[in-house]
Amino acid sequence: MQDKNSALEELAKVQQAYYQGMSYSPYQDKTVLRQLMGKTVKMSQQKYGDKSIVSEKEAYELMDEVLDSPLQTELENPILYRKLIRVFNSIEAAVHELNIQLPMPLIFGSVQAPDPNAIVWLAKDVDVCIIAFHTGIYGYLFRMSQLVISAAKILDEGDGYRLLFDHDSIQQRLSEAPAIYDRFLQVLDAMVMLGNVYRSPIYLPMEEIRQVFTSFLTKGSQHFLMGHEYGHVIAGHTSRSKTMQVLFGGEEIAQINTSWEQEFEADRLGLMLALVSMSNEEEFEYDINYLYWGIDFGLSAFNILEKALSTVIYGNEKQWSSATHPSSYERRCKLRESLQEVLLSTWGETEEQKKALIKGTAKFLKLGKDLEVILEILWLQTKDNFTDYYRRQVLPGRSWRPKLFGN
Ligand SMILES: [Zn+2]
Repeated sequence: MQDKNSALEELAKVQQAYYQGMSYSPYQDKTVLRQLMGKTVKMSQQKYGDKSIVSEKEAYELMDEVLDSPLQTELENPILYRKLIRVFNSIEAAVHELNIQLPMPLIFGSVQAPDPNAIVWLAKDVDVCIIAFHTGIYGYLFRMSQLVISAAKILDEGDGYRLLFDHDSIQQRLSEAPAIYDRFLQVLDAMVMLGNVYRSPIYLPMEEIRQVFTSFLTKGSQHFLMGHEYGHVIAGHTSRSKTMQVLFGGEEIAQINTSWEQEFEADRLGLMLALVSMSNEEEFEYDINYLYWGIDFGLSAFNILEKALSTVIYGNEKQWSSATHPSSYERRCKLRESLQEVLLSTWGETEEQKKALIKGTAKFLKLGKDLEVILEILWLQTKDNFTDYYRRQVLPGRSWRPKLFGN
């Protein structure tokens, strides 16, 4: 506990230094968030009246409760933090269930990092791993989940619903609801050009069934992200000899230095932890088919974000991977390759189970690829906007710029 507190102090110091350096205060976000919530609720009331899922009063109450709940550090993003705790506890439970011993404890928080995922480093004086997720990470994944689910047609089969992802169905749905393209651009614009995804609106009212599917996706991607960082700790990538001193917002941190192989290894472990932790959750008991869906989707959504960032910064889509980090595209390829093996080693005890898991792998992969196709269709319609920013030399949001000018 003492160690964790000391690591938390260090996280708080880094957040402070980082936000000061950016002359950006997350406190401003509270006002922005309240305003946005108000606007979204009003729009939904106008459009849907009583059918709106929350009343204006309820929405504000919920918002205030979130914004006023206690945080572990002063500059923490309140909305993200509450979600992170839930996912953290769920992954911790899976770690215990699988009898995995962590070589060191970890703490987490958020910072508006110049990297779409997370920054991981070791505390200075104690052996604790500190993970700072990008503040916009969950907001981005949530909005993208809503968008792809909105772009699919829904078939009521009597005893359940099915989403239709064939090319014709998607085209038909997109021509019925062309606003989906605008929304997609708004989300990418907010994340890439403003550096703050919360400036793009969310779809508050969605049919209930679409909300269920959206939640499969957000859950999967969130669990996988957390699982991946646990994977680094479990696999021993966080030993002090492998860290690199870097300046982050003016504070020196011992960032972990990983190779592509280690990233893939963390993904494999993250996949296992995400699958086990989510299989314990009630909603997946009804439909196990969707267990892998959000995990694959998260990487597809990051692939789009990297394409947009790359296009603005370098003028083409292909430059995001680096010596230390494979791109999300490459990670997704590897993950799909390892899926069957991970499923078999986690749950394949009997011959019967093995057979079912091999069949299930094909289903899992098909669902993942469906969403990749929708995202590609949306990206192709949007891409020109980002090429245009590059041509006019419009810079991406301030938080991304270290990537542009070097760290
Ligand atoms: Zn990693």
